Amino acid sequence: MTGASGQRVVVAGASLGGLRAAEGLRAAGFTGEVVVVGDEPHMPYNRPPLSKEALAGDLAFSALEFRRRKSVDDVTWRLGSAVAEASLGTREVILADGSVLPFDGLVVATGLRVRRLTLPAPEAGRYAVRTLEDAVALRADLRPGARVVVIGAGFIGCEVAATAVGLGCEVDVVAPEDVPMQRPLGPEVGAAMQRRHEAHGVRMHLHRLPAVVEARTTGADADPGLVGAVVLDDGTRLPADVVVEALGCVPNTEWLAATGLDIADGVRTDGWMRALDPEGHPRSDVVAVGDVARFPNALFDDVPRRVEHWSIPTDTAKRAAPALVAGLSGADLDPAPFAPMPSFWSDQYGARIQSFGSLGVADTVRVLEGDLDGEFVAGYERGGDLVGVVGVGLMPSLMKLRAEMITALQPR
Ligand SMILES: Cc1cc2nc3c(=O)[nH]c(=O)nc-3n(C[C@H](O)[C@H](O)[C@H](O)COP(=O)(O)OP(=O)(O)OC[C@H]3O[C@@H](n4cnc5c(N)ncnc54)[C@H](O)[C@@H]3O)c2cc1C
Repeated sequence: MTGASGQRVVVAGASLGGLRAAEGLRAAGFTGEVVVVGDEPHMPYNRPPLSKEALAGDLAFSALEFRRRKSVDDVTWRLGSAVAEASLGTREVILADGSVLPFDGLVVATGLRVRRLTLPAPEAGRYAVRTLEDAVALRADLRPGARVVVIGAGFIGCEVAATAVGLGCEVDVVAPEDVPMQRPLGPEVGAAMQRRHEAHGVRMHLHRLPAVVEARTTGADADPGLVGAVVLDDGTRLPADVVVEALGCVPNTEWLAATGLDIADGVRTDGWMRALDPEGHPRSDVVAVGDVARFPNALFDDVPRRVEHWSIPTDTAKRAAPALVAGLSGADLDPAPFAPMPSFWSDQYGARIQSFGSLGVADTVRVLEGDLDGEFVAGYERGGDLVGVVGVGLMPSLMKLRAEMITALQPR
């Protein structure tokens, strides 16, 4: 069955990007059928609280579920169904249950999944945090006094560490970098974040990797299937009741393997979010949105990058949906360059770390205001141009700099 326009768009992935894409299709005037296929059993819900306030307290689905616009009331949601394969030749996706869904247009919104430890390790007591179920399971083990080893010191690892400390756990963080959150924040700001963690009692084991995850072999709860300790590559042994793997994520693109699209690191797109083949030719019938998309941002340069920020599914869906509708109807594309201002936040120990811009492209970081151990604003520059800002507190200054960056960074 197709809709009034006789066309069907299949959206693969039923999270923030999938929801915003469905809303964007309706906003762009698409009157055909929209089918959103999601492998989770839930309607789209909000992930950031899973490592923060929801992990610390209320993990009720009703508090996490996104509100949906009325315009998507007629969308078909096929939840609990994974897309197993796509064929662009026959324009159809095949679901894991074997059913086949023909499409005229396809939106890739399958996001990321957590990278897991490759070491042999007992299963029980090991967690990752990406889904509601992950957070519910971890929450049950974050009891006061529990010994928690977090592997990975990116934003999610650090948020879980802060939340676990707040719940009365003993926390060790293990990571190979010099400082926590090094890649996005840089060494100086990262070192300040390390001081905050250590002031709250977190033990940081930096320049270290886990070498062995031991099972629980002694005590009343000895069990070869339960984690008991993490041994580091320098021999340090960290007793553990809980191991949290926060090793970053990998894009969910295996189902696109037979399409010939460039899926080297997420789905590479042009500035209209149209999926590209390896020669760089765009498809007019396939777009990608959200964490899974690797796209150029004209504010910074023409290098396609994946951006794992909550703001990006909405920005990219607003761009992708009209481009897909134009592709299906033969209409012109919006000639304006795609230049969304990235925005990210993280909550740790009651302080909000807020960023705007693209910190990763900077060559210099300078403290512009305040003190790194209190409230501050740091500027991230490339060739003397401000390309990003990070702050704790001082929101008016941050918003002023954001506005200045939008004016100064001419889309290129
Ligand atoms: C714990 C956590 C905390 C975060 N905190 C912050 C924060 O503080 N600030 C911030 O800016 N961002 C934060 N983020 C990032 C933000 O949540 C993501 O950028 C956002 O969820 C991306 O949305 P998405 O729809 O692109 O991808 P996802 O949310 O990953 O959704 C993809 C969906 O597709 C499904 N799927 C995958 N493969 C298939 C398939 N083959 N068939 C069908 N469905 C499939 C997945 O199960 C999932 O439901 C956080 C993320 C997490 C996990």
